Order: sequence, then C-alpha cells, then structure tokens
Amino acid sequence: MKKEDCIFCKIANGEIPSTTIYEDEDFLCFLDVNPASRGHALIVPKEHYADLYEMDQELLKKAIVLAQKIGKEMKEKLGCDGLNLVQNNDEASGQTVFHFHLHLIPRYNNDGVGISWKPGSLTQEDKEELKALLTPGRPLE
Ligand code: 5GP
Ligand code: ZN
Repeated sequence: MKKEDCIFCKIANGEIPSTTIYEDEDFLCFLDVNPASRGHALIVPKEHYADLYEMDQELLKKAIVLAQKIGKEMKEKLGCDGLNLVQNNDEASGQTVFHFHLHLIPRYNNDGVGISWKPGSLTQEDKEELKALLTPGRPLE
C-alpha cells in the first residue's frame, strides 16, 4: 500500500531521490535531508504506516534489529560516541512526516544536539494514578 502525496512513499518508490545507505525487501535507510548530526539517518518501511500505532508488529521487530545493525556500523565507521533512536508520533511529539520512521542520530561528545528535557518530579499521587491508568489489563476507573 502506498499513499498519495506521502514523501517517504515517493522515496520508497524511487520517485524522489534519497541517499540510501541500506535497503532490503521491507526497509530503506537513508540520510536525513536536514541532519541533527553527522550520519543522521532514517529507517523507513517501504509500505505506508502512519506511525507506531499503525505499524505492522513483525516489521516493528525487524526495525529495531535493523537499528542495531546500522547503529553498530555507525559506531564503527563514523566513530560516534553515542547514538539516539528517536521515533515521533503525532504533531504534538514533533512528527512532521506521517509515514513511520525511526531516527538514528549518531552523537559526538559535546555536539550540542538538543535531544533533552527538563526533569520533572513524580508525586505519590501521580504514581498511584498513573500506575492504575497504565498497567496493562487493569480496569480503568
Ligand atoms: P519527524 O519530525 O516526522 O520525526 O522527522 C521527519 C524527518 O524527515 C525530518 O528530520 C526531516 O529532515 C526528514 N525529511 C523530510 N523530508 C525529507 C526528504 O524528502 N528526504 C529526506 N532524506 N529526509 C526528509
Ligand atoms: Zn508513506
């Protein structure tokens, strides 16, 4: 299934060029056109799934294994000091392309790449409420 006007479907179809560093029957991995760091790449399924919620479970498993494989290559060949995996869902999270993708962002000591948040605090009330809401199989009250 391909989706009209989806930029990553067009890349997967070869309608739009990309700098592809890996391809198999299920996935492409290509360099991000506006990289956060040297080597920033995206793992993208060839089929269209909008986000994590829609993504096929077997492909999801393969995607994380592929991230391990490419991440190891990055560590060895780019000499990066760290690696962030980032995966955005919905606009509120910063998702801009609504075709599932996994960012591989190589990190270098003191690179200033801003993947961070201000640590908050978790009250006892938060703990109880969130545990009750989010524990799988527990009824929502
Ligand atoms: P999101 O914010 O949806 O998680 O990330 C989308 C990413 O796709 C962005 O980092 C953006 O730079 C990248 N991107 C958007 N359009 C293109 C494109 O046409 N080619 C490539 N290689 N990357 C793209
Ligand atoms: Zn698509």
